[in-house]
Amino acid sequence: MSDEPIKLAESMTAVPRDHAGVLGHTCEHHGCGKVAGWGFARPRSEPHWFCFEHRADGDRYL
Ligand SMILES: [Zn+2]
Repeated sequence: MSDEPIKLAESMTAVPRDHAGVLGHTCEHHGCGKVAGWGFARPRSEPHWFCFEHRADGDRYL
């Protein structure tokens, strides 16, 4: 009787640990300061960055 260990799916343990370091942006929402994964910018304008929670704030810059 074999007793092989069950291999969990890698997606269950994979953590985006380099996320913040790669992006290097923080949310511009007042008092937030989280890692911003969403950038909003018009041509010839400074981009504005927001986190997942406040990404709706970026719509005003588009
Ligand atoms: Zn935010």
